Amino acid sequence: MNIVVLTLFPELVEPYFTTSIPAKAVERGLISYTLVNFRDFAHDRHRTCDDAPYGGGAGMVIKPEPLAEALDSVDALSHTVVYPSAAGYRFTQQVARDLSREETLIFICGRYEGVDQRVLDFYRAREYSIGDYVLSSGELAALVMIDAVIRLREGVITRESLEEESYASGLLEYPHYTRPVEFRGMSVPEVLLSGHHAEIRRWRLRKSLERTLDRRPDLLHNKALTEEEKGILKI
Ligand code: SAM
Repeated sequence: MNIVVLTLFPELVEPYFTTSIPAKAVERGLISYTLVNFRDFAHDRHRTCDDAPYGGGAGMVIKPEPLAEALDSVDALSHTVVYPSAAGYRFTQQVARDLSREETLIFICGRYEGVDQRVLDFYRAREYSIGDYVLSSGELAALVMIDAVIRLREGVITRESLEEESYASGLLEYPHYTRPVEFRGMSVPEVLLSGHHAEIRRWRLRKSLERTLDRRPDLLHNKALTEEEKGILKI
């Protein structure tokens, strides 16, 4: 998979790809990345990439021309373009799964008030928000999305790690414990020490259900519960 990031601050994005899991994935040829500074496509003396908004109002808007030229340079019309935006559709694990099937993904990192809408429309950019808050730029949001996507690619991390984690089954994941058995007066739940696999599985399922009910009841509304899950929830 090739990840292309269009940004005014490549130095903010680069460290992600040279650290830990992404760095290993790059080394093993599972992913590649290209960082494009779209300021390089601004042709005036000051290499201007922003301008005042039509209609007035605060802030500046990313100009269409340099960004469009940068998008053309990576053949964006032939690929999926993603624009992280506070005004976008919600970025979910399902969106990450869908995007992980693409061979090339192009991310546009916005700044200021955002990007001229015509560029987004022309390149059919998919606009996604990572949460109900406003960041000062798109780089961190793009990296959140990239991270969620590339770990789903074959070989980047182990299959089993993906199967049990939050959202895989529509539930939040159960709590984890490791050595030592006693820590500051708190013990590891007895069942996890029992070696009884069926009971451990049921305990984890119960914890997942309780946690989801407490923290994200909206997820339960969208999930078709199994008979076992209904039994645990007593519904
Ligand atoms: N004027 C925009 C609005 O009210 O929707 C906010 C612009 S924000 C200051 C600058 C850039 O940060 C945006 O263009 C977008 O790329 C990025 N951004 C901010 N919040 C985000 C979020 N929750 N999810 C994804 N991207 C976000």
